[in-house]
Amino acid sequence: TSSRSASDRPLSVGRLVLVATPIGNLGDLAPRAVEALAGADVIVCEDTRRTRTLLMHAGVRGPRRIVANEHTEAATAAHVAELLAGGATVAVVTDAGTPGISDPGERLVRAAIDGQHDVTVVPGPSAALAALAGSGLPTDRFVMEGFLPRRGADRRERLAEIAQEWRTTVLFEAPHRLARTLADLAAACGHERPVVLARELTKLHEEWWRGTLGGALAHVEVQEPRGEYVVVLGGAPTPEPPTTADVVAALEARLTAGVDRKTAVSEVAQELGVPKRAVYDAALRLYPARS
Ligand code: SAM
Repeated sequence: TSSRSASDRPLSVGRLVLVATPIGNLGDLAPRAVEALAGADVIVCEDTRRTRTLLMHAGVRGPRRIVANEHTEAATAAHVAELLAGGATVAVVTDAGTPGISDPGERLVRAAIDGQHDVTVVPGPSAALAALAGSGLPTDRFVMEGFLPRRGADRRERLAEIAQEWRTTVLFEAPHRLARTLADLAAACGHERPVVLARELTKLHEEWWRGTLGGALAHVEVQEPRGEYVVVLGGAPTPEPPTTADVVAALEARLTAGVDRKTAVSEVAQELGVPKRAVYDAALRLYPARS
């Protein structure tokens, strides 16, 4: 950890480089990504064939490839730890986008950090951020949910959380499950909740559909979902902040019921989420003579 001194570091410091790759348009492969791939001793990838195509496009030959997918990442992390301990530079790519984001990567990073090796990132395409950025929904605060659990209590609980979430939520979904997921989201969040379907980003048939969950359900009924989708969901409407009239009404109800002023002020502050001072001032204006 960072509390260890530099002298505790292993003799050979390896380097793990997470390299973002295009999400559908090879033109998005950054020059620095190519450099990182060409300079790696080993490339960890999800699918050797997909990565071979990418490397051929980039004109990169050579680095040995090892596979990390959702089934093998734990075992691969142990192997990568050994390579790093030998001083290797290991690049990590996935089939598309940024490693570690609903993709293998997190365990490899953890293993590198545990071994006190260097970790760095060549940033680039990410379907989640691209969809959020172009959605037109609030981007100042957002939540990345990735794929919902497929079924059962896990799915129900996650949907209930998303229904309450007031920040913009980003979800991934496979085309054959999109209609079901939109139906479940509409049942949980209401048909009026704003949603954007960002389809086939950066590809020939890129498409943005913007509307409500109810409208999206009708849309996918008419047009069978094909290709890759990110679902960007507007947040739950935040309740209006209480007005002075709300504070006065809540106070009056308590005071006329015989609650003493101090207790009434605390209760109203707690209930309406306003500072005690503001409630106290309202109480003074209401009954200046009472103690
Ligand atoms: N790590 C990747 C990233 O940063 O973009 C995401 C990997 S996740 C396994 C794959 C999901 O991302 C797809 O199921 C889809 O929801 C979304 N996705 C990937 N490429 C996309 C594209 N070009 N357009 C829309 N969604 C895409």
